[in-house]
Parts: sequence; structure tokens; C-alpha cells
Amino acid sequence: MDVTGQRVLITAAAQGIGRASAEAFIRAGYDVIATDSNAAGLDGLDCRTARLNVLNDAEVQGFCDGLQVDVLFNCAGVVHGGTILEVTEAELDFAFDLNLHSMVRTIRAVLPGMVARKQGSIINMSSVASAVKGVPNRFAYSASKAAVLGLTKSVAADFVGHNIRCNAICPGTVQSPSLDQRLAETGDYDAARAAFVARQPMGRIARAEEIADLAVYLAGATYTTGQAVCIDGGWTI
Ligand code: NAD
Repeated sequence: MDVTGQRVLITAAAQGIGRASAEAFIRAGYDVIATDSNAAGLDGLDCRTARLNVLNDAEVQGFCDGLQVDVLFNCAGVVHGGTILEVTEAELDFAFDLNLHSMVRTIRAVLPGMVARKQGSIINMSSVASAVKGVPNRFAYSASKAAVLGLTKSVAADFVGHNIRCNAICPGTVQSPSLDQRLAETGDYDAARAAFVARQPMGRIARAEEIADLAVYLAGATYTTGQAVCIDGGWTI
């Protein structure tokens, strides 16, 4: 597929899946804009980079104003631990703000341009811990990532007639800096890692590059919309 001139906007591209995706889209020949609230973390990417805090409505609107975006990859997200009895209201609000509302902001900012150009592909980062699977100790995360699937299907249904596709990625456990941090915070990194590895029948944690390849595929998957695509080492077989 010739993607010359096709512009991709990626959020949370400083590390983990977002960064691997920026690199994969660059390799695939797209015109990539890699953004993150941590601008310094974008150093070294061979594309246009910019600081963008997706929690800030005015910043998102201002950044996207007049910007052609053919592919939007909403990758920003945060993991809170805890059950419904443990998660605070502030944590729940923050989870929905970063995991769901950030996507509403970016989609509202770029979708009118996609409609005007009669083409667009939106990819939203969800998780198997969502409407796909109940995962212990992930109440705020799973509820907000499940909402991402509703958002995805709603946008897909409303804009399919405008040649705009909207799909979601549902990974299992993926190697990233924040995963390492969560494992370390348990107090026993090795035991926690072994337990996380054991969740995947393939017996390993995904590489960020494997998820990035799926994002590139979905960007150009011209007959696929409204789908929640699991990539989870067999966790949800
Ligand atoms: P990560 O958590 O290590 O990095 C997250 C990035 O998001 C950082 O670069 C950070 O600076 C950026 N960020 C945080 N707040 C931001 C904001 N307000 N605006 C812009 N950027 C912001 O990366 P990861 O673990 O690869 O996770 C990326 C996405 O994949 C998240 O949505 C996460 O929920 C999802 N996911 C991850 C896993 C996993 O096991 N790692 C599994 C399923 C889904």
C-alpha cells in the first residue's frame, strides 16, 4: 500500500507501545507526528515530535487546528491497581480522563478534517482488561478501557459512511517502562513478573513492537472497522 503523504498522529509516543508504534509507522513510510506530555522522551525519534498533554482540551484543539491527520493512534493511558472497594474517586476520575476522555478530545479535534477529506483511520488503545475479560485488581483501568470499546464502536458506526474507520487494540501484557514499574511496586519484581508471564499461554510477555505492527496493520486495514482486536499471547482463547 502506498502511504506517501499519509500523516499519522500518535499520542504517548515517548516510550513503550507508543514509541514502538512511531518507529513502525516511520518504517512503513508514513509521515509521523509523535507526541507525548514528556517532550524530552521523544528525543531520538526520526520524525516530527511535539509536546502534547492529552488531558488539556485547549492544548489538543490548538495543536490539531488546521492539521491534516489521516491516521490517529490514541495510545495514552494509565493503569491503576485496586478493586471497586479500593480505588478512590480521584483515581477513577483520572483513569476515565486519561484513558477515555483524552480520546474524545483528540477525535473531536481531527474528525471534522477527516470527514472533509472523506478518509481517516482512528486506532484506540484498549486492553483485554476491559469488556473482553475480567482481570483482578484492575477496576478503574478495566472500566475505562471497556468504555474505549464503546467509543470505538460508536465512532465507527456513525462515520462508516464517511470512509472513516475506527478500531481498538486490546493487548494482553506488554513489556514497557510502566509495566516494569508496576512489577517493582509489588515489592517482589521476579514473582510478579512470573505471575504476569503465566497469564499468557504463550509463556511470555509481548514486545511493544508486536503491538506496533498491529497498529500499522489497522491503519491500512481498509475493510475493517468497529473491531476490538485482541493481541494477547492466547490469554483470551
Ligand atoms: P507506558 O505506560 O510505559 O508509557 C505511557 C506514556 O504515556 C509515557 O510516555 C507518558 O509520558 C505518556 N503520557 C502519560 N500521560 C500523558 C498525557 N496526559 N498526555 C500525553 N502523554 C502522556 O506505555 P505502555 O505500557 O506501552 O502503555 C501504552 C498504552 O497501552 C496505554 O494506553 C496502556 O493502557 C495500554 N496497554 C498497555 C499494556 C501493557 O501491558 N504495557 C497492556 C494493555 C494496554
